[in-house]
Amino acid sequence: ADVAMYSAKDTRSGERVYHPEQDRNTPRRLALIGDLGQAVERRDLQVVFQPKVDPATGHVTGAEALARWQHPEQGFIPPDQFIPLAEHSGLIRPLTLHVLDVALRRCASWRTAGHDLDVAVNLSPNSLLDADLPDVVARLLHETGVPPGSLTLEITESSIMADPTRSIRTLDRLHTLGVKLAIDDFGTGYSSLGRLRDLPIDEVKIDKSFVQRMAVDRRDRAVVSSAVQLGHALDLEVVAEGVEDIETYAHLTREGCNLVQGYYVSRPLAADAFATWLRDHEVI
Ligand code: C2E
Ligand code: CA
Ligand code: CA
Ligand code: CA
Repeated sequence: ADVAMYSAKDTRSGERVYHPEQDRNTPRRLALIGDLGQAVERRDLQVVFQPKVDPATGHVTGAEALARWQHPEQGFIPPDQFIPLAEHSGLIRPLTLHVLDVALRRCASWRTAGHDLDVAVNLSPNSLLDADLPDVVARLLHETGVPPGSLTLEITESSIMADPTRSIRTLDRLHTLGVKLAIDDFGTGYSSLGRLRDLPIDEVKIDKSFVQRMAVDRRDRAVVSSAVQLGHALDLEVVAEGVEDIETYAHLTREGCNLVQGYYVSRPLAADAFATWLRDHEVI
């Protein structure tokens, strides 16, 4: 099953490609793992928020929480580098819980300020094998007062496929809480369209590698259009990530895409900047 997980190689977007050398514990890697562990423990990882907008109305409906690590000496280290490190070193569980905690607290504060917003958090493959996760999520929702339906957990299909039986058990339990589940990076990897029907999910998120060029490439437009139609035929919400310009935004609006996210709307923002941004952009 581990092999299947890592062979779901995403060459289009270049994300989550497994390199065997990542496993070799070079001195630099070991030092980084140590630093990351300290950052997680000291709650030194930042969480930024990228707005999601309903293109039919222009309303901001929520935001995706994304982790950021400012290394004391090496500067900014992108999540595509430190998330795999965390996954391979046992740090992913505390990291995920930290992001969940910060994201839910922020969501609660937006809601207290009168904004009816949702928040989305990314789950790594290993999280789905964590039998405690649904209880922890339930506790955090209770503590922060965020309604379960206002939390979306984003997972990739390949992470489910690493151990479908256990993963689906976790997903079912999360779903029973009322939490929304999204398939992230939809269209990459070797997705089984038939399986989509059987997963307890609410949303598909079309990968940015298709969305980014759809304004200029008819084939990418065809892929996005089919994904929107498939999602809707399965009664799923369809979200597009990586919307960088007005042409793409207009295309997705015409296609009936439910939500869009991308630099055209806003880059991911620190929590304070997001709150300020909201005041000016409740409607795009
Ligand atoms: P993802 O979940 O697919 O997140 C979308 C990525 O696209 C983010 O990169 C976001 O900043 C970037 N993005 C958003 N809009 C645009 C756009 O218009 N154009 C372009 N070119 N990029 C855009 P980021 O923040 O660097 O994160 C990369 C990946 O790292 C994420 O991909 C996710 O898989 C992972 N990640 C980030 N934060 C977390 C986390 O807290 N937990 C876990 N497990 N994974 C995380
Ligand atoms: Ca995501
Ligand atoms: Ca993606
Ligand atoms: Ca991703």
